[in-house]
Amino acid sequence: MIVHPRILRLAAVVAGALLSLPAFGAPTQVTLVPPSGARFLEGQRFDVRVEGLGAGPFTATLSVDGQPVAFTSGVQNTSTTDGISPTGWGGFNLRAHAFRKPGLHTLTATFADSTGSVSVTSTVQVLGVAGEHGGGEARNVIILLGDGMGGSHRTAARIVMYGVSGGDPNGRLEMDAFPGLGLVSTHSLNSIITDSAPGMACYSTGNHANNNQEGVYPAHVTSPFFQPRVEYMGEYLHRAKGTSLGIVTTADVEDATPAANAVHTGNRNAGTGIVDQYLDESANNGLTVLLGGGRRWFLPATQFGSSRGTATDYAGLPSDLISRWKLPAGAAGAADPNRDLIADFKGAGFTYVEDASGLKGLASSPPRKLLGLFGYGNMNVALDKVAKRRGTPLADGTYVVDHYHAPDQPMLDEMAEVALGVLSKNHKGFVLLIEGAHIDKQSHLMDADRAVGETLEFDRAVGVARRFADSNEGTVVVVLADHECSGFSLIGALTGGVAAARALPSDAATLDPATTPARQKAAGTYDAAGFPRYTFLADGYPATMDVDGKVLVGYGASGDRYETWLSKPLPVVDSLLPDVIKAELKAKTYGSEPIQRVSDANGFYLRGNVTGGQAVHTAADIPISAYSSGSDAWREFVGIQTNTDVFFKLMRAVLAR
Ligand SMILES: [Zn+2]
Repeated sequence: MIVHPRILRLAAVVAGALLSLPAFGAPTQVTLVPPSGARFLEGQRFDVRVEGLGAGPFTATLSVDGQPVAFTSGVQNTSTTDGISPTGWGGFNLRAHAFRKPGLHTLTATFADSTGSVSVTSTVQVLGVAGEHGGGEARNVIILLGDGMGGSHRTAARIVMYGVSGGDPNGRLEMDAFPGLGLVSTHSLNSIITDSAPGMACYSTGNHANNNQEGVYPAHVTSPFFQPRVEYMGEYLHRAKGTSLGIVTTADVEDATPAANAVHTGNRNAGTGIVDQYLDESANNGLTVLLGGGRRWFLPATQFGSSRGTATDYAGLPSDLISRWKLPAGAAGAADPNRDLIADFKGAGFTYVEDASGLKGLASSPPRKLLGLFGYGNMNVALDKVAKRRGTPLADGTYVVDHYHAPDQPMLDEMAEVALGVLSKNHKGFVLLIEGAHIDKQSHLMDADRAVGETLEFDRAVGVARRFADSNEGTVVVVLADHECSGFSLIGALTGGVAAARALPSDAATLDPATTPARQKAAGTYDAAGFPRYTFLADGYPATMDVDGKVLVGYGASGDRYETWLSKPLPVVDSLLPDVIKAELKAKTYGSEPIQRVSDANGFYLRGNVTGGQAVHTAADIPISAYSSGSDAWREFVGIQTNTDVFFKLMRAVLAR
C-alpha cells in the first residue's frame, strides 16, 4: 500500500457561499448551507437551507446541478415560510438530501423578499466510498479522543510514567506504540480555535460546524435542534451496515464531545434535549452503550440533583425533518422536565448501572444494551477516583468523590472493557467513541497533576482498545484530540524538593517585577530540570504527583492563577454539575476558578494571557495515532491532514469495496 494523502481538497472553492448583490433593496444575510467547500461521502445525508432577513413575504428557489428541486418545507410568498424561522427571517429547507455520484456538485438558490432578490451558490464535493488503495476490511471503528490532548500532554504522561535515562524515554505509552502517526489541523467553520462540539463533529460527520454546534450547519431558527443536519458516521453505518454505536466518556454525557456522535443541535449546552435525543433517535444510529456522567439530565426535575428544564429542551421537530430522516414519530420531542429518562432507557431494553461495582458485575456477561451514569455531572478525575480506591483521604479524612455524591466511579479503561463486551455482540460491527474528557477540563483549570493523571487514565483505555483490535480482526483504532488545550508546556522540574517548596514564604504579594518570587526561582530549567522520577503503585497510577524534582508545566494560553507547583488537594468546582452540588462544594472551600484555589493562596501570581479565569484552547495541530487489525487502514493517517479528512478515512476503511 502506498502512503500518500488520498483525500483531495477543493482548493479552488472559497469558504462560504458566493453572493451576488443586487443594486437596490434586497433581503440581507442571505445564506445557503451546506457552505461551499463542504464534503460528503457518497450517500451521506444532509439538509440544505436557504434563509435571509428582510421584509416579507419571502420566496425562494433551489436548483441542484442546474435542475430545479422542491423544498421540503417553507411556504412560498408568506412571511412565516417554514414556521421555524424567527420574526423577520424567511427559511426554506430540503431535508436529508444525498448525492450518489462522486465529484463536484452545485447548489444554487434565490431568496427574495418584497424589495428584491439575492442568489447564492454552494459548490460541494462528494467523495466515493471506494478509495484508490482499497479499504473496506474494517468492521469496527474505535475513536479514542483525549479531549484537549496535545503533543505535550502525551510527553508529560510518558515522562511521569517511565522517566528518561541517557537522553531517551524509558518506555512508551500505549498510544506511542501505534504504528501510524500523523498531525491533524483542528479549525472550525467560524474560527481558527475550535471548541469540542465542531471539533468532534469533524471526525463524526466529515463536515465543519461553527463553535458550539454539533451535527448541524449554522442557521437562524427558533430552536437549535431545528438547524440543518448532517449525517453522523454512526447513523450512516447503522443505516448501511446495521452497526451499533457506543459512547463512553468521563464527562457528563450531555457534553459536546459525546453528544457530537449522535445528537444534532446548535447549542452544546442544551442538556435536557441532548439526552432526550440520545434515546429518541437511537433507532437511527444503533445507540447501544452510553457510559459517563450526567445523571442530572436523566432525573425528573423534582428529584435531587436534576438539571432538567424546558429552557434546555426542544419540542416539535419539524415534520419534514422527521419524515425525511425517517425518525420515529416520538422523536418530535416534548418539553418534559419531569421525564424519567432512566426509566425510559430501561423500557427500551437498556440495563442501567450507576457505580463501578454495578459495572463490574456486568463484565462476565455483558447485557444487550447498557446505560451507565456514574455521577451527577462530569465524573471525577482519575487521581480523585484513585484516592478513594486507595483509601488515602484529604487532610480532613473525607474524599473528593464523596463531595461529588459519586463515591464509586469506574476508571475509563474499565468502562471501555465493558462497552466492548456489549458492542462486540453485534457481528455487523460498531462505532465506539471513548473520551478522556478531563485532559481538557483540567488543562483549562491549569491543574497539571490532574491533567497528567487523566492522560494516564486515557492511555490505559487505549491499551484496552488495542488488545480488543488484536483479538478482533477488522478493527481500526485512532487516538486523537479535538484540539489542544491551554498551550500545555513542559518547562522543567521543581528544584529544592517538595518539603522546601511547601515551606516557602508566601509569594502572593510579590507583584513588583523587581522582586523574583521564591517559586519562580524554584522552577528548574534546562540542566536544572534533570530527570524527574515518579513511583507507580499496582493500580497503575503514581503514588504521589508531589515527588522531589517533579515535572513543572506552564500554559501558553493561560488565565490568571497563583502557582505553588504543588498538587492541589481539591479540584476547582466542575462547571458541569447540578447547582445544588456546586453550592455544597463552594461551602467546602472549593474554588470556582483557578485563582480561588485555597491551596494556592501562597503561590506567585501569574497574570493570564486571556480573560475569563481559565486557560483556553489553542490552534495547535494535534497528533493522531492509528492502529488496525486485519488491514493496513492505519497507514491512511500517516502525515498531515485536516480534521474532516479523518472521517472519510475511517469511513473508507469500513465501506470501500
Ligand atoms: Zn475545552
